[in-house]
Amino acid sequence: KSKEVKGNKFTIFEPIFDKKIQENFEIKNNLRHAINKKELFLNYQPIYSSLTEKIIGVEALLRWNYEGNKLIPPSKFIPIAEKSGEINAIGEWVLTNACKQNSIWQSSGHKPIFMSVNVSILQLEHPNFFEIVRRILRETGMKARYLQLEITETILTKNTVQVIEIVKQLNKLGVRLAIDDFGTGYSSLGQLSKFNVDKIKIDRMFIDGITNNYNKKKIVKAIISMAKSLNIGVIAEGVETIEQLGFLKQNRCNMIQGYLFSKPISAKEIERKLSKSYDWYPFKKYN
Ligand code: C2E
Ligand code: MG
Ligand code: MG
Ligand code: MG
Repeated sequence: KSKEVKGNKFTIFEPIFDKKIQENFEIKNNLRHAINKKELFLNYQPIYSSLTEKIIGVEALLRWNYEGNKLIPPSKFIPIAEKSGEINAIGEWVLTNACKQNSIWQSSGHKPIFMSVNVSILQLEHPNFFEIVRRILRETGMKARYLQLEITETILTKNTVQVIEIVKQLNKLGVRLAIDDFGTGYSSLGQLSKFNVDKIKIDRMFIDGITNNYNKKKIVKAIISMAKSLNIGVIAEGVETIEQLGFLKQNRCNMIQGYLFSKPISAKEIERKLSKSYDWYPFKKYN
């Protein structure tokens, strides 16, 4: 089947591309108003200790309820927000609300858990980032040591004095750093020592299909033992099956997150889990 071009080289304006451009344009323009229109909200996904089998933290995940009836996933709007610069305002909104929530949980008597917040490297590179975090901690009453910032592996390849300095300042406050999606980037192991890394999160890609993939098993084992020897905690993300959990427990992975335990849920649902003295622990099924 031949495709006629009829002298028009600008195939990019084929309807399908046109639609995508149009959609991105719409997202970009409406995102600016999402905060004021109160269309953003957070869900929280529990992170479990594989030792105590209890919730030890949650990851805040951003949701956009566009015009009250269209849920747009972060994978679609975060990259656009990064390009338009809107990520700074949005990121500040996320930090404020995540800290507020954690502070409410703690002051209402729940056992303290950490709050892990995804932060774009662009936010970290903003000259005021440290001041913003410090102000948010002060204003929300959140204790710094329970705040964890999740930044993708690209941070490890950053050599700018500015980024290293900001991370150091945050560390001094007590804020922790977790490397998100570990294993998918182009960092080297040596770069891990450049920052005071508290945890690494093994990317879902390695957990997916791990039980019958020899290479994935090898990689995950290597990441866990490397982290152990560097005194860094390990979270496995995207754990969906008992078999995956079994493998991770056998290989002493500290922390587990994934649909097997819970999808990202509302603050109310987290509270319900925290106030129960028991939960349905997939661990029990494995033991
Ligand atoms: P991420 O930080 O790696 O988050 C993990 C993603 O995997 C989340 O998708 C989560 O819902 C999903 N997930 C968790 N467990 C499982 C599982 O067992 N199976 C499967 N299939 N998926 C699982 P989500 O919420 O759609 O977020 C996607 C990405 O968007 C995040 O990846 C993060 O990079 C970004 N993101 C989300 N919220 C924020 C935010 O507040 N700020 C920034 N900068 N990025 C955010
Ligand atoms: Mg994350
Ligand atoms: Mg991740
Ligand atoms: Mg990921």
